Amino acid sequence: MEFTLDEMRSHLAALEARIDEACKVAGRSRESVKLVWVSKFHPAEAVENAIALGATDFGENRVQEAELKFSEPRTAKDGSRVRCHVIGPVQSNKLKKAAIVADCIHSIASVEALEKLEKVCAAQEKVLDILFQVNAGEEETKSGLDIHEAEGFLESLAARGETAFPHLRFRGLMTIGKNTGVAEDSRECFAFLRNLQQKFLAKGGVFANFDQLSMGMTGDLEVAIEEGSTMIRVGTALFGERDYSKPVNDPV
Ligand SMILES: *Cc1c(COP(=O)(O)O)cnc(C)c1O
Repeated sequence: MEFTLDEMRSHLAALEARIDEACKVAGRSRESVKLVWVSKFHPAEAVENAIALGATDFGENRVQEAELKFSEPRTAKDGSRVRCHVIGPVQSNKLKKAAIVADCIHSIASVEALEKLEKVCAAQEKVLDILFQVNAGEEETKSGLDIHEAEGFLESLAARGETAFPHLRFRGLMTIGKNTGVAEDSRECFAFLRNLQQKFLAKGGVFANFDQLSMGMTGDLEVAIEEGSTMIRVGTALFGERDYSKPVNDPV
């Protein structure tokens, strides 16, 4: 069962209290952390409710589901255009659609993907924000750049220079914490990600806009904020448990 608007309002208040407390502990401003509402497996009505509660940024795992909910431009309560973040791994044959529907893709881990996205974005005359996913938790099942190869990969992008991907803006790094049920277990990989991001931001050039860290979910957002996250991706705490038996992309 999906939450009602009132239920979502109280879940949002509880989440905001957690974010405020974490910001306080970290000595950071609330404005320095963007909340990305992860609406995967929740219907378009849940997105409408979220927008009514002030949501501006949404995260989707699957391109087809993102298209269903975010192909039509939507306006947020603050008058801005609602932004769609693709946060799941994108198969090569879905990159074109992803580039069209998304404002930001968090899960890029190859030059081949960048080359495809650049072509599509040039044709669309659009600039797309890119985050590189690092498998900092070093788990077999997780996609992303290998922790030992991430730095070399980023250096290879710097070597290509600023004219290689004029329609892509490299914004930072993304990771999924360790899924142990203990938030503290993710601290080390979040700190690793921050150090890597800071190092490349300092280089400027193609990394001049590399100021974003997408890390922290329902279970570990406090640790992520303490370690410098600028975008937390939260689904369950806002929308409730996902019903994986009911994919949203089944046409009704
Ligand atoms: C599903 C998902 C989330 C949201 O996770 P919750 O635990 O429900 O907050 C965040 N990031 C990614 C990459 C996801 O796939």
